[in-house]
Amino acid sequence: MRGNAFEARVKADGGTELMRLLHERMGAGSPPPVPGEVLVPDLSAAGPEGRVARTALALREATGADGSPGLWTLLVHPLVALDVAGSPAYLEPDAVVVGPDGRWTVVEIKSFPMIDSSADPAKVGAAARQAAVYVLALERIAARTTGARVDHSVLLVCPRDFSNLPTASVVDVRKQLSVTRRQLTRLTRIEDLAAELPEGTSFDLERCSQAELTAAVDSVTAAYAPECLAACELAFHCRGRARSAGAVEALGRGVRGELGGLTTVGAVLAAARGESAPGTADDDPTVVALRRAAALRAEALRSLPEGAVAGCR
Ligand code: SF4
Repeated sequence: MRGNAFEARVKADGGTELMRLLHERMGAGSPPPVPGEVLVPDLSAAGPEGRVARTALALREATGADGSPGLWTLLVHPLVALDVAGSPAYLEPDAVVVGPDGRWTVVEIKSFPMIDSSADPAKVGAAARQAAVYVLALERIAARTTGARVDHSVLLVCPRDFSNLPTASVVDVRKQLSVTRRQLTRLTRIEDLAAELPEGTSFDLERCSQAELTAAVDSVTAAYAPECLAACELAFHCRGRARSAGAVEALGRGVRGELGGLTTVGAVLAAARGESAPGTADDDPTVVALRRAAALRAEALRSLPEGAVAGCR
């Protein structure tokens, strides 16, 4: 609620304060935007495809691609599309500003505070990664628009100190852009993933029964890690699968990395008990460390009074 209230405040009065901040931080060489004369086009349209087309048209018109001199234009919640592994992903930046010189600038409005002109680096980093994806999507439209160029710096707007007044800083996203570009080219195409599924597999929520959907989801391999709980709607499903299979991934990537070739909890316990574990030799450093830990634990338990740690045994 605080974030929404702050964003509404920043964009109030036709974006007067937002445009002032943008010109102050990034507008060198352009005439300042005159309050009331900034164009704020209506971007509403039916469906995501319609909104994407409407946004692209508004960007082209604002850039003066038809030869007319450009004005300051503020696009509030435009919708852009980015091809991710062969499927369109729809993205909605908080705002995009088109300057009189044809420069497109992404604006990200966040509710975390900027104290003494600096904000939490982790949150700024996350905002930069997010904004870089918007920049990538805009570059595809700009490539087809005469006179357009997308700024590789974005404007980050946050509450100043402990108030609700906006302040802004310029964030260079060139590094995030190159990382995201590389990641996108390395993604496996959706058609290739789909080709490995059993014939007739469907994830259609309206036409498939619960049993069919469960079977469809089960047919996809997963690489669960506890971090999934914060990011994926299938996390509880994948965690259940990982636990029932005894997979060490359920214990976290750190533990998984420590355990080397031991991939199940059963194999780890067997190795600790001195039994042979599949895929590992007796002199494997992980197996040696596990046996040593098991011996130390047994020794510690023996030194305790009888019944003191009944639960632990
Ligand atoms: S929870 Fe989501 S991200 Fe994690 S393994 Fe399952 S499908 Fe993949």
